[in-house]
Amino acid sequence: MTESLRSLSQSSLQDYNDCPRRFELRHIQRLAYPAIESEPALENEKHQQEGEYFHRLVQQHLIGIPAEQVGKLANTDNLQRWWSNFLEFQGLKDLGTLYTETTLSAPLGKFRLVAKYDLIAIGNDQVIIFDWKTYRKRPNNEFLHIRWQTRVYRALLVQAGAHFNNGKPFTSEQIEMVYWFADFPTEPAQFIYKGDQYKRDWDALLKISDEITNASSFPKTDDVAKCNYCPYRSYCDRGIRAGDAADAELETDAEELFDINFEQIGEIAF
Ligand code: SF4
Repeated sequence: MTESLRSLSQSSLQDYNDCPRRFELRHIQRLAYPAIESEPALENEKHQQEGEYFHRLVQQHLIGIPAEQVGKLANTDNLQRWWSNFLEFQGLKDLGTLYTETTLSAPLGKFRLVAKYDLIAIGNDQVIIFDWKTYRKRPNNEFLHIRWQTRVYRALLVQAGAHFNNGKPFTSEQIEMVYWFADFPTEPAQFIYKGDQYKRDWDALLKISDEITNASSFPKTDDVAKCNYCPYRSYCDRGIRAGDAADAELETDAEELFDINFEQIGEIAF
């Protein structure tokens, strides 16, 4: 059933975790979204586009375009506020070498595990993964800690990041992950990594990839709350009315709705 599936990402794994049926529809059958994901639809769509655009602004600045020039492109209230907050963010000072919008990948069972990083900052003996979030609500750290994104990004950097470190894999103790929230700029969420966490995460990734490979069916979730903001409600007879956008974006990350384009992957560690 999964023959056509070549890669797994934090987003597809999170879908599998939340609802195997959603994973099947989105990542195996690749169905276009038949239902509006959340209400109000237009406002939510605009927020998603602004979030994506904000990522581009930050990237442009980090590769060397002056802040003043980039700031002129922040042409909505949200973008102006996020950009202003970003410029005041002190967490990027003296971090060493910065790699923006970098994609890593490594074999995982019969798949490739792929992740696109907003920023990897490599200092003397430490590497920090930054991820920019434009959520309307600041999720709590417990929620973020168990998300596949937090687990995949750190584990994959150990597994596939040696080329950043003169060919030597980073140890997990060198790695930290930081979520920075554009609307909550003084409340970043920081997650250090420990040796046993890496082993636990990679073992879990191997296990879930095997489970997906051998799955004979992808059942609907029993947790019907997950359906409130799911775009596939009409396929599952799980209601028509969409859920609240601010809750939805915590579950179906706007940035992650855009599939990784393999043609655009610049750096892949095999
Ligand atoms: S509507 Fe519910 S059961 Fe159907 S794919 Fe979405 S989360 Fe799963």
